[in-house]
Amino acid sequence: MGSSGVPEREWKYEDEKRIRARDRQRRNTLAMFDGIEQMLLNDIAAGIPLKQAVEWYGLTLRGVHNRARWDAEWSERLDASLLAGRDPDLEHGRDPTYKRFGCRCPDCRDAHRAGKGRDRGS
Ligand SMILES: [Zn+2]
Repeated sequence: MGSSGVPEREWKYEDEKRIRARDRQRRNTLAMFDGIEQMLLNDIAAGIPLKQAVEWYGLTLRGVHNRARWDAEWSERLDASLLAGRDPDLEHGRDPTYKRFGCRCPDCRDAHRAGKGRDRGS
């Protein structure tokens, strides 16, 4: 029995390969933040626009957001910094603030996302 090509084993192997590739990718992402993570968050909290801060440290917005997708702690810390650093003179939670002023705080992000899904409702 089970001389060749046991489907279950193959499936497991493929699964494992995928998980390993994912882990490797995550490790690579984390490595990009190594040593600069706190500085980056400090700068964002100090009011430096996210995009600019990210570029200063040689990161990409994509990397920052990718990490936020699977790293809940990072996502929280990032959002906290964005909230701390957002411009108090702007009205937040509005799509124009996101689009015109480039605010990436969680409130504006949500408004921007919501605005994409529907026409201007009110
Ligand atoms: Zn905002």
